[in-house]
Amino acid sequence: MPITGHCHCAAVTYSLAQDTLPTVYACHCTICQRWSGSAFALHALLPEGALRITGPLTEYSHEHQGQVSNQRCCAVCHTRLFNTTSAAPGLLVLRAGTLTRAVDLVPAAHIWTHSKQTWLALPDGVPSWPHSPTPEQFASALSKR
Ligand SMILES: [Zn+2]
Ligand SMILES: [Zn+2]
Repeated sequence: MPITGHCHCAAVTYSLAQDTLPTVYACHCTICQRWSGSAFALHALLPEGALRITGPLTEYSHEHQGQVSNQRCCAVCHTRLFNTTSAAPGLLVLRAGTLTRAVDLVPAAHIWTHSKQTWLALPDGVPSWPHSPTPEQFASALSKR
């Protein structure tokens, strides 16, 4: 069964050409907290062509620390589905909570725990970093699950 997901109103649906859930990580940075309106964001890093998308998307582009980030949202309900950034060409960052099977996701890493909400206790044995890991550390954490 392919992995699927959709926005809140289901005008936009997508599928992934794989039958296992992607590896996800939690970002506890204050930008993700504000943007999600929640305690942290659940993200999956995927190759840029990984999503087969149906439905109307709208785009919001902005600059952050000299890099351009392009956020893709449902054009009807404005659920933010994924983004690309000039900081990581060829990759997209999926908002993993939009996956149909999001309830089955377990983060393989926690980043920016410096700004983690204090009530949230992270499980033992899951790699975490107070700020951003190096690309090598991050790739290693995401590859073992
Ligand atoms: Zn929608
Ligand atoms: Zn973040």
